Formats: sequence, C-alpha cells, structure tokens
Amino acid sequence: MPHNAPQNRIVRIAVPCPLYKTFDYRLDGITDSHKKLQPGVRLRVPFGRQQLTGFFIEEVSDCDVPADKLKSVIAVLDEHSLLPAEILDLLLWAAKYYAHPLGDVIQTALPVYLRNNDDATPLQSSYWQINPVTGTTGDDIPGTLKRAPKQQQIYRLLADADDGLDAEALNAVTENWRPAVRALLEKQLIIEKRRAVVLSTHNASPCEHSLHDEQRQAIAAIQQQADSHAVHVVNGITGSGKTEVYLALCETMLAAGKQVLVLVPEIGLTPQLTRRFLQRLDTQIVVLHSAMNERQRYAAWSAAAGKQAQLLIGTRSSIFTPLPDLGLIIIDEEHDGSYKQQDGFRYNARDLAIVRARNHNIPVVLGSATPSLETLNNINEQRYQVHYLRQRANKRKLPHIELVNLCSQKMQEGMAQTLLDRIRRHIKQQGQVLLFINRRGFAPLLMCHDCGWTTRCARCDAHMTYHKRRQQLHCHHCGSQRPAPDNCEECGSNNILAIGVGTERIEQFLQASFPDTRVSRIDRDTTRNKGSLQDKLEKAHSGESGILVGTQMLAKGHDFPNITLVCILDTDQALFSADFRAAEHLAQLITQVSGRAGRAEKAGEVLIQTHHPEHPLLQLLLHKGYPAFAEAALAERRAAGLPPVRHLVLLRCESVATEAARQFLQQASELADRVDRQGVDLFGPIPAPMERRAGRFRYQIMLQSEQRKTLHRFISWWVPQLQQLPAARKVRWSVDVDPYDTF
Ligand code: ADP
Ligand code: ZN
Ligand code: ZN
Repeated sequence: MPHNAPQNRIVRIAVPCPLYKTFDYRLDGITDSHKKLQPGVRLRVPFGRQQLTGFFIEEVSDCDVPADKLKSVIAVLDEHSLLPAEILDLLLWAAKYYAHPLGDVIQTALPVYLRNNDDATPLQSSYWQINPVTGTTGDDIPGTLKRAPKQQQIYRLLADADDGLDAEALNAVTENWRPAVRALLEKQLIIEKRRAVVLSTHNASPCEHSLHDEQRQAIAAIQQQADSHAVHVVNGITGSGKTEVYLALCETMLAAGKQVLVLVPEIGLTPQLTRRFLQRLDTQIVVLHSAMNERQRYAAWSAAAGKQAQLLIGTRSSIFTPLPDLGLIIIDEEHDGSYKQQDGFRYNARDLAIVRARNHNIPVVLGSATPSLETLNNINEQRYQVHYLRQRANKRKLPHIELVNLCSQKMQEGMAQTLLDRIRRHIKQQGQVLLFINRRGFAPLLMCHDCGWTTRCARCDAHMTYHKRRQQLHCHHCGSQRPAPDNCEECGSNNILAIGVGTERIEQFLQASFPDTRVSRIDRDTTRNKGSLQDKLEKAHSGESGILVGTQMLAKGHDFPNITLVCILDTDQALFSADFRAAEHLAQLITQVSGRAGRAEKAGEVLIQTHHPEHPLLQLLLHKGYPAFAEAALAERRAAGLPPVRHLVLLRCESVATEAARQFLQQASELADRVDRQGVDLFGPIPAPMERRAGRFRYQIMLQSEQRKTLHRFISWWVPQLQQLPAARKVRWSVDVDPYDTF
C-alpha cells in the first residue's frame, strides 16, 4: 500500500439480500488506494457467514458504525462498472418505485453469467479464415490436403466466405468439421479469430410494397419527434402493418448511428420477428430470451453494450441492457402480461421502458392491436400520442364472430353440437381449425361417482388435474404429482369420473371423431422439449396438422393463414373470474386470434362458446369492437376503484402455520395506522383468492390510491419497516406495485 494512502476509506454497497438498506464496508488495502471506484462495480464482501457479490454505490466519509467495527471488502471484481450511469439511475428509480431492495434489483438486472463469473471479459465466438500469409488464392488447394477430403472441403468453404465462418455457420453446411478445422490450424493454413456474436445479413432487401397512408402518417409523426421523448402508441388491428412501421423507424434510427431496443413478449415470437428484421435491415442484431443459456445471453448482452450490435430484440429483462447509443425503444404487443415479472423484483418492462426513454429523452413506441387499459387510459388523458392503423395491409378480411349459446345444448367433451358440425364442414372444405382452451391436462379433476370424493391437492385449495396419457395427477398450482388412482381413495369404488375438459381430452376426442385429420396439441406439456414448439408450429403452417388444440400459448404472435375456423371453448370462466383483468384478457384473446385466422380471399369464422351470450361486455366486443369494449371496461374499473384509474399495491404474505401470515399482516396494518395515510386506502388482511397453496396459508393487504405520489410516499416509509415486525421471521412476504393480478 502506498504510504500516503488515505486511511479508512468507507464504501457503501448494495448487497443482494432481502433488506431495504445498503451496507458500509472498509476498502483499505484492497485496491490502489487513490483509485475512485465507479458506481456499479462488483465487490466481494463478507455477509453474515457467507460471501456475496455486492455493487458499489458511493464512497462515504463517515457512517453510524465506528470504522474499526466495519468489515472489509474482500475483493474488487471490476475495473470499470458494467452498468453505465443511465442504467444505474433506472435501477435506483426502480428499486424505489417497486419498493424492492436495491442489491437484489441490480443483481436481477445483470446477466446471470456475471453472478457466477468474476471475469467480465465479453464473450465472443470463434471463427476461422484462410491464413492470409500461407493460404492459397483462387481455386488452388494446398498440396498437403490431397489425401484429406474433409480438410479440403472445409478449406474450400472458408476460402469462399469473405468474413470467415463460425461454428454456427459450419454446422449449417456440414457436420463433424471440428477435427478438420484443428488439423488445418495445425498446418497453419487457416487462422482462428474471435468476434462478438451478432446476426446480420449482407443482402438485406428493402420493403417490397409501398407503405399505405396510415403507415406513412404514423412513421412521419414519430420521426418528426425522433430527437425527443414522447410515448407513441401504434394502435393497429392485426395485419395492419405495425411491424412495417417498426422497420421503417429502425431504418432511420440505424442510419443515424443510433441503437434500437425492441421488446417482445415471448420466445415463441422471436424467431419470426428476428427473421423479418434480419431480412430487412442492413445491421448487426442480437437477441436475448430465456431459452438461451447464460453464456449466450452474456455474449449478446456484451455485444449490445459494446456497440457491436445496433439492434437488440429481446424479452422482458432486455430492458436493462446497456445500449450506449440508444435512440428508440419499441415494445411489441404492449398489452402482454409477460412484460410483468411475477416474482422477486416485480417490475414491468413496458413501464420501465417508458421511464428509460424519458430519462434518455428518446421516443418509445408501444404497438398493439388490443392496447391495455393502462395505455388506453394514458391516451385518453393525453399523456401518450396515438397513431391508428385501421385498414388491413395483408388484404385479409376480418372474420365473422359468432356466439354459441350453450344453455340446454347437448354437449360432448365440452363442445356443443354446433361446434362439431362446423369443424366438420371446415375440414371438408380443406380449412384448418384452431381450438382454444385455457386448461391443459385431460380433466381438471377426478370424482368418485359413488361417494363424491375428488382429487383435491393435499397442499392447495385446488384440485389435481388428471393427465391421462401419463396416468398421473398434477397440481398446476404447487407442482405436486402422483399416480392417478384406479379406485376411489374414500370408498374403494372403481366408478371414477373425469370431470371437465382440458387440452388432452379435446385432442383425444377430436382425433377419434376425425380419424383422417391430424390433430396437434400445443400446450406446455407437449412443447417442453427444445424445438418441439417450433416443430409443431411448422407443421401447422405447412398444413400437416388439420386441427390445432392449444392454450393461450397459441395466441401469441403466430400467423396462421390456413386456419379458417377458430373456436374458443371456455369464456364463462373469464367473464366471472375473481381476476380483475380476466375480461380484458378474454377480449384481447378473441380479438388477437380472430385477426390471425383466415386467408386473403376468404374470411374466417370465430365461434365462441358461452352460457351468457347476452353478457354486455361480450356484446360490445362483438358488435362494436375492442375499442368500445375497452371504454366500458375502463368505466367498470373506475367504478370498482381498480387500475388504471386507481393505483394498487399488494402486500402478500404466506406461512406454514395458519395464524402467522395473518398476524404479520395485522402488525403491518397497525404500523400503517400510525400515520396519516392521506388518501391511501388499506384493505385487509384478507385471504388470497387461493387461501392455501403449496402447504402455505396466504393472505394479503391491498393498498389503493387515486394518487400515485401519495401511495409511493407512503410505501417508501412503510415497506422498509416491515422486516422489523415481530412476526416477520415466521413468514414470507412480498410487495407488488402495480400488480398484474391479485392471486
Ligand atoms: P401487424 O404487425 O400489424 O400484424 P404486419 O406488419 O405483420 O402487421 O403486416 C401484415 C402483413 O401485411 C405482412 O405480410 C406484411 O408484409 C404485409 N404488409 C404490411 N404493410 C404492407 C403494405 N403497405 N402493403 C402491402 N403489404 C403490407
Ligand atoms: Zn368413493
Ligand atoms: Zn397443489
């Protein structure tokens, strides 16, 4: 240590732990003592009996604890912060807004790879090129390769590729190439280099059709304000050409040397969308989604942060990726629930994108055919600008939607005769059929016909779903599994009934009813293996599968031009659900799937089964469309004091012992009563809609307020103290700001 080192340098560190505070440590003897640390730098610190990786926040001159009582930092891991100030600001804001511990927020925002690796050198991929010194030119093949056909083949391939080839490119054209590459390297005929992992095409082709008026107006309006912050909503019906609007905006941004971030809801969406961006844009693209491993994700993250990639297409957590030249954020299908993280740090990526764009003074584009009520409310209040695409670019006609009244109808396996007749007709006419049912498995429960015993889950207030093919019972809430019994566990009778229907049952029934048509089931059970979803979607596109049975999973972003009939089997559940967003989701589902079906020359048909065809929301949706439905739904939310009109915070708590969770919430409520809450209403403790799950009793407190500001002022005082409540040690609790549901 240099002798003039300042003594007792104290650093404030955000440690990933459930506590609402930062921690102070001594830095002495660790680094070059003059060196200033950059905020965000990772440090290894002792924490209780373990060592954790925390994040440097600031250096302080003194703290509450005497300096000699402070523990010392063990190691400084980074020379430079991996998070630029812009991202750190966003995270500080988010930790406050979502009332979540800062250390955990920062950890969630960083690639998982950095949690497990001290070395943050960007990951790159190897590629190989002809050695410019020893290599031959033209069609010549070095004489030393005469007896090595595989090496010759690889050599030719590399000689033909201007930029060399990487493993992925070689895999695409040949197999078992590694030994040959090794041999060529040994002979010094080729060289190995490394580069950032980016996708790009060399022959991107411009848009082949001329944009229609509405597209042009939207693009012009957004481009006019390209240098300043505004939230633009592209509200266009499915097939109206929203993606073309995104592409045009990207083109100009990229040409101006800016980076663009495109957020998409699900992995299922990325391949198609990525392909379209690659085909059109002459740029370097990286993608980020949960199906990638942590090395791949870190490599993509580094390429974006290091500016080797100009365009990042990714799911929720991509919002935290550093993009030094960021000029535009696009959020596709902004209404989609997958933008909200449902555990741990419960952020909403769409909302954070707006904050990031505002901080950065850049535009953000939210696209949807069925904007969320939150977004519509913001348009109504003139906080967002809206651009409508009302006409269809792909010339497809909007389908005819029809309600099937189930009252007193003869049903088979959850389907009315009308539905079966219609399926038969469409198949006869070479159409494809798509059936939606939001329940996987064969039947939601088994029941004894002699005594009424049912397959209740021992750990939840729920039934175990019967999976027939595997002869198992699964609880979809806690994950418990057990073999399906042959006999009633109460009275021993073998007279067991499967009650209700799920995707497996529909699949089996339809396959039996239409033996000449291939029925394909697409749900989480049939798409667990890597590539199986893609495979099933391809079979659907090629027409190999005539009937598709699936859950909501099928509704997202997929285009099915050969599907002429869409059936939605269970609407009643959504119409009367305890989930306040259920009706909104149903309307979005109906509108989205309707828009994806049908060929250009022929309008498709949509059949919706319900016992309540007179339901006002359904009627509005069918006769006046999604915008009218949404206005009515907004009025209902206003009347019920629900978002987006009023703002919610949910304090959830669960415990193994019945009373502990309730006790904790009681104490939390008493704590809240100590101050004047000023317009923040507190409800509870009340049992969660499913009171027992996974062996734990669950309760909640709901906070409601007209004013976001007052609500946040209150929780920033209240939440950090909850940890100290006497009952806190016996329970698990979490805070959910702007909850997506109240379960
Ligand atoms: P959305 O994203 O709104 O569903 P897309 O951008 O995917 O719509 O467009 C739907 C289809 O219409 C695509 O096949 C696209 O190539 C085509 N399309 C988009 N804009 C035009 C246009 N101006 N003229 C002709 N076809 C278009
Ligand atoms: Zn029985
Ligand atoms: Zn269970």
